Amino acid sequence: MPTVLADTVLERFRRVGALLEGHFRLTSGLHSPGYLQCALVLQHPEEAEACGVEIAGKVRDLSPQVVLSPALGGIVIGQEVGRALGVRAIFAERQDGKLMLRRGFSLAPGERVLVVEDVVTTGGSTRETIEVAHALGATVVGASAIIDRSGGQQDVGVPFRALATVSLPTYQPDACPLCAAGQPVVKPGSRTT
Ligand SMILES: [Zn+2]
Repeated sequence: MPTVLADTVLERFRRVGALLEGHFRLTSGLHSPGYLQCALVLQHPEEAEACGVEIAGKVRDLSPQVVLSPALGGIVIGQEVGRALGVRAIFAERQDGKLMLRRGFSLAPGERVLVVEDVVTTGGSTRETIEVAHALGATVVGASAIIDRSGGQQDVGVPFRALATVSLPTYQPDACPLCAAGQPVVKPGSRTT
């Protein structure tokens, strides 16, 4: 069952050309020959909705009362998960480098929070988003993502459930064979074509 679901998710990425190959600098700072561009899936509302429904089905037992996502990557899928669960969806964003709630968003002490992202690589931004909720006294019941591209290696300190787990290779910049071969590195999304 999980395998079937994962295949379905990856098939969705293939279908819309969201699995890119080359030499990429990920948000985590790591380099990789592959990149899953979730925005290319989520631009299609019916695909975004389907991902949201599938994530909701995997986390409903955690009884979340609110979805919290880091901007920008988590906003669209967070909204869809919130819709599917019938709870509100809010996002945290950076101000002066620090992730925080803005725009009048709030969390009540003890409120049950589910952190939702598009892709988790090292878990760094997920942990940072969890910290935002903890600092406000909320209870983080779990975290979820469309893609876990750590190959299941990350540990975010709360139950973590992804629709698909993939293990595309990642390299520290100073140990990257693509850099060593002189291939220019690009930040995904920095090119418009
Ligand atoms: Zn490199």
